[in-house]
Amino acid sequence: MLQAQVFTLYPEVFPGPLDKGLYGKAMAEKLWSLNVINIRDAATDKHKTVDDTPYGGGTGMLLKPDILAKSIDQNINAGERIFYLSPKGKKFDQNLAMELSKAKSFSLICGHFEGVDERVLTTRNIEEISIGDYVLSGGETAALVVLDSVLRLLPGVLGNEKSASEETFENGLLEYPQYTKPQIWEQKSVPDVLLSGDHAKIKDWRLSQSEAITRVRRPDMWQKYKKN
Ligand code: SAH
Repeated sequence: MLQAQVFTLYPEVFPGPLDKGLYGKAMAEKLWSLNVINIRDAATDKHKTVDDTPYGGGTGMLLKPDILAKSIDQNINAGERIFYLSPKGKKFDQNLAMELSKAKSFSLICGHFEGVDERVLTTRNIEEISIGDYVLSGGETAALVVLDSVLRLLPGVLGNEKSASEETFENGLLEYPQYTKPQIWEQKSVPDVLLSGDHAKIKDWRLSQSEAITRVRRPDMWQKYKKN
């Protein structure tokens, strides 16, 4: 079972979409669990203060290192990877999602305000990861994105394990176009090859479509794919 843990100031955000549908079923079947830690529980003063102004000046507030570290130290599983969701982190991708789906446990820290005191990141060996080149107001939505992409890779969660292996990113290409019934819709038919029953031909067509789409939309992925 994968044990995921989230540190947040907004515990009510979780599990959000993650206890619906197949993920709810997977949770009930104990394929994964989610432990949500309220960082504010580690605050010590009567106002439950968690943040303070940055040294050197500037707008906004930072999560205090003493409070955040206390929360982490009280709750972390020995040896697990800890990630801080952050726009200046290493870009989160399908490879990391795959790695995390094989882990026993990992923790995600959601920042707020201007972020967190840098010293917590280094002393607690925390890896910074970003879900993309834009700035969110808090790490919660980013944590949901990370968890969603990891959970669907857990064996037994999607039901049809093969469906994950043919998808966008799994082979360095974007996915080919897909069609379902009705065969003719608004005067448009689905591509003939998909009706041919010729599996080798269908496979070739899908690969060529994947390649064409990737070349146009994602030159960065195309360059890497061509090299391999
Ligand atoms: N001052 C910071 C931004 C803080 S945004 C900076 O310039 O780097 C507030 C919080 O939202 C962050 O602590 C982080 O947890 C979360 N966040 C914002 N953008 C994110 C992104 N692209 N990926 C992951 N987390 C993000």
